Amino acid sequence: MAFFIPEEKITEIKNAADIVDIISGSVLLKKSGRNHLGLCPFHAEKTPSFTVSYEKQIFYCFGCGAGGNIFAFLMKKEGMTFPEAVKHIAGKYGIDIPAESMTPEQKKRISEKDSLLSVNKQAMDFFCKSLFEGGSGKRALDYLNKREISEKTIRNYHIGYAPAGWNTLYNYLIKKKILPGRIEKAGLIVQRSNSPGFYDRFRDRIIFPIFDQNSQVIGFGGRVMDDSLPKYLNSPETAVFSKSRSLYGLNAAKSECRVTETVYIVEGYFDLLSLHQHGMRNSVATLGTAITPEHVQMLRGIIGKDGKFILVYDSDDAGIKAAYRSIEVFDRGYADARILVLPSGYDPDSYLVKFGAESFRKAVSGSLGAVSFLINSAIKKHGLSVEGKIRVISELKTALASIADGVARSLYIRELAEKIDIDESAIHERVKDAQTGRKNGKTLYGSNGDGIKADSGAEGSAAGWNGSASGMRKGSRLERQIIAMMLQFPEILPEIQKRNVMNNFTDEILKSMGKAIMEKRCSREIKAPGVMQVFDDDEKNRIAAFLAINQEAWTREDCIRLMTQFEYSRKRHKDTSTKKIKAAEETKNEKLLFELLREKQIQAQKKRKYNLKASGGETL
Ligand SMILES: [Zn+2]
Repeated sequence: MAFFIPEEKITEIKNAADIVDIISGSVLLKKSGRNHLGLCPFHAEKTPSFTVSYEKQIFYCFGCGAGGNIFAFLMKKEGMTFPEAVKHIAGKYGIDIPAESMTPEQKKRISEKDSLLSVNKQAMDFFCKSLFEGGSGKRALDYLNKREISEKTIRNYHIGYAPAGWNTLYNYLIKKKILPGRIEKAGLIVQRSNSPGFYDRFRDRIIFPIFDQNSQVIGFGGRVMDDSLPKYLNSPETAVFSKSRSLYGLNAAKSECRVTETVYIVEGYFDLLSLHQHGMRNSVATLGTAITPEHVQMLRGIIGKDGKFILVYDSDDAGIKAAYRSIEVFDRGYADARILVLPSGYDPDSYLVKFGAESFRKAVSGSLGAVSFLINSAIKKHGLSVEGKIRVISELKTALASIADGVARSLYIRELAEKIDIDESAIHERVKDAQTGRKNGKTLYGSNGDGIKADSGAEGSAAGWNGSASGMRKGSRLERQIIAMMLQFPEILPEIQKRNVMNNFTDEILKSMGKAIMEKRCSREIKAPGVMQVFDDDEKNRIAAFLAINQEAWTREDCIRLMTQFEYSRKRHKDTSTKKIKAAEETKNEKLLFELLREKQIQAQKKRKYNLKASGGETL
């Protein structure tokens, strides 16, 4: 019986794992810029050229060219097979994997998920197209402009528009041969109650696609552009979408969250987009729910166990509610959850537009842990009269009692005692009463730690494009850059396809890598926009790790510029080679002509040979 680990399980394991942590077990690593450096375990060296990227979760040795993701490391270092490496990491991070192969029901469930994801993807394409199609899309575009959402953001976050009709999406998807039952399961249409048939769930709304960590569309949020209700409408719970497990913007925020070990949590789509536009990409938004334990677990897997959560609210009341809840939710550990309430009248969006990111970061550094925040809010509310102090204690005793860690609890009680100038023991007594009321005192607390490291913009990479490892100087610089771009900025793949960029590649290995990326992307096999075991060929994986290890923040404009540059250089090359042959013919320089034609022939042969090899068994 073949051992089968479902793809989603592998993704879960990969997301939980920390490559720096695991490699540190056998290699001494030192932080250097954005990366970690150490002596390569795969070849003898005195100066470190073995590079590990925490952000991208890959390693690469500039000395010997070894590289790949965490699984590749274990396979190479410990001689494990792929399933063994997956199981090893799952065990280390306490993730269960089914020991047996999949049952038919499991298979069915997974293929159903795939089919819903594909319906969602097509719906997203429709919404995006509708936004730029004039007519009522123009109104939506104007609205987004008014809210200061840039065109770049619109494209990067695939923001779209659901037209006003009752069946526009339905008709579009039916034309694509998708069965109504599947569209309904994806939550995009709703069965009519008084007559047969369906109608579109989202009508005349701005559409925000919601992605999972692997950039797959799992659901949608829709906002009206006027005062009609509901203001926001989300996809219902489906086989692929659950509000308590999903966060808006997570796919775009993930790598910045890893680097800064901090995550901002806001409540709305526009707040999130505004934070990202102001360069605070380590932010996510909940989808009309309070933060859940699942959210915390998921985020902690990204920001690390000492990472910081900053919950941003636009009113005291919302902040207080969240603070109480966060004491409940940030369970089992010393999560540093802080509450930031913006000055009254401002939400993150309007605050950033008016005061800018610097001021926002300053406000964050003054934010308080959940308990301290509650103490301050209670004092503000009830005042410091005798009655006020009594109310403050009675309001806070349950929250204090729910703090599992005795030391932390004592410290907060002391803080409260000092602030309201009452004997500590009196508060202890009240809290103890509240505690006996609680059966199982297993709870949590939001600590109030040191100053916040809001941004670590450290730059610096181990080597430039032309790394010293032999065999890595494949193709031209432009070709290598294009492959790196495809790995790091998959949004550009449709454009690559449209321009037929791959056909102009001269290096056959890079070309086949590019083609494999396109194919896999189309069939959604590449789930993360990183370099994760994309190729089944060791050399290609090494090249991919090499190309992706350096930090590159791509924008669509960069990509277009690079492609244009490449097209120009190919055209120039073709022109000169043809010109040279022509000139040799004209001057009757037979020796040169012979050489030029022979060179051309060799190139063609190489290409044929490679294609033959590629089609004869090597599957990418
Ligand atoms: Zn090495």
